[in-house]
Amino acid sequence: MKTLTSRQIKDLRIIARFTQVWCVGHDHTGQQPLQLPGNLKPVELCPNCSTFMKYAVDRRVHCPIEAEKPSCKHCRIHCYAPAERELVKRIMAWSGRRMILRGRLDYLWHYFF
Ligand SMILES: [Zn+2]
Repeated sequence: MKTLTSRQIKDLRIIARFTQVWCVGHDHTGQQPLQLPGNLKPVELCPNCSTFMKYAVDRRVHCPIEAEKPSCKHCRIHCYAPAERELVKRIMAWSGRRMILRGRLDYLWHYFF
């Protein structure tokens, strides 16, 4: 696998965190550690969320316009397929709200899709 940029690693860490909050918060079961690229710590996710997370990793790692990318939110191509895009919006909004309630503002930045 090619080396990831620091921005890719940062984005992957954020989406992994949001997806984990979503997964636990929705009482999903059967979580298993999912390995992430770029020396990131594995994330504990249920099978469904793991499938989504792998998709998100794949999209982010293979971003075709990495060099010009401001952030996924402002991307001009939005590489996600409609179903995954809808899901990531729900995950980011739901987990974002939950993190605000818990005072985890450090995760929020400007990362909403
Ligand atoms: Zn889950």
